[in-house]
Amino acid sequence: MHESLKANLREIEQAQRWRRRRILTSPQGAQITVDGRPFLSFCSNDYLGLANHPEVVAAAQEGIARYGVGSGAAHLVSGHFEPHHALEEELARFTGRKRAVLFSTGYMANLGIISALVRRAEGILQDRLNHASLIDGAILARARLRRYRHRDIAQVERRLAAAGKAIRLVVTDGVFSMDGDMAPLPALAKLCREHDAWLIVDDAHGLGVLGETGRGSLEHFGLSAVDVPVLMGTLGKAFGTFGAFVAGGDDLIETLIQQARTYIYTTAVPPAIALATVASLRVAQQETWRRERLQELVRHFRDKVAPLGFALTDSNTPIQPLIIGDSAQAVALSARLEQHDILVPAIRPPTVPEGSARLRITFSAAHELEHVDRLIDALGACA
Ligand SMILES: *Cc1c(COP(=O)(O)O)cnc(C)c1O
Repeated sequence: MHESLKANLREIEQAQRWRRRRILTSPQGAQITVDGRPFLSFCSNDYLGLANHPEVVAAAQEGIARYGVGSGAAHLVSGHFEPHHALEEELARFTGRKRAVLFSTGYMANLGIISALVRRAEGILQDRLNHASLIDGAILARARLRRYRHRDIAQVERRLAAAGKAIRLVVTDGVFSMDGDMAPLPALAKLCREHDAWLIVDDAHGLGVLGETGRGSLEHFGLSAVDVPVLMGTLGKAFGTFGAFVAGGDDLIETLIQQARTYIYTTAVPPAIALATVASLRVAQQETWRRERLQELVRHFRDKVAPLGFALTDSNTPIQPLIIGDSAQAVALSARLEQHDILVPAIRPPTVPEGSARLRITFSAAHELEHVDRLIDALGACA
């Protein structure tokens, strides 16, 4: 076993895929302290800058004072606290759906949804660039998984037509996590209606960020709960806390509570975190300047980076990757930026397709325009 692990690790290293964890000694934010050094950071998913927001922090502290730290049990045993229930009701209201149910993480929510909704050998269609947890959900369900080319509506249509009504679910990210572009949701919703399939949207990177009031990709496109019956969102990104949820109709939510194994067999998130999320959901809706700031940062960045000759993606979201191609080159560029006290991660296969290693730049409402200028200057100097 030792020998085979060693050989495997050597292979990872030789393929330029070695990853290393950095140690933060500050809160998440535009400026962070990492391995003892201050950096300007473009690598979190804390899009609205709420992870260290004073009202969110105060709510978590109040929650700990009232309920202690641990939830002590799964939701169906004795771990479903008052703040969990209140948060579910808030999330249902926020998403304009009948009900919502909390999961401990987005990864677990996706495993739970898919394995509760499809049975062995039933058909499921997914975008090739969907998040790993959606792909893993289909594998866990032993479903018949077909993938379509990224955002290729014509291929979705052909696959649905060829399958008769055998495809039960079509699943997509709302905003793709490594590219920042959006799924063609209106077209997918229409095809799903025509072929009697349910559309599941994982809006981990859209909720809080997109749409006038932060209701995400569905608000951006003006889609309803009829168009997208299953909406999944995470709470550890734009909302700055931790956990995830699924929103939808009564039958859907009750099915998940009764049957999703990643809901049933796991400890509930600490109640203080749910209380903090109620606060962050409120701030995210009220402080519209955070979404406006993000749009301004993105516009500024795209205008300024274009003349430097980098390959941008088709993204108007706070995820603005620069596609480099070669893994070693992406890593080298990330290391040079680090010498300018700027943190931007190099994302390599297998997280992204072969030959598309990239710098994944993400913006947060905590950034100033001046931070973007510093990034642009450093990119100019390092390229
Ligand atoms: C981050 C992410 C998840 C997983 O959510 P966690 O709460 O971090 O487990 C699921 N789907 C997408 C698209 C994500 O980006």
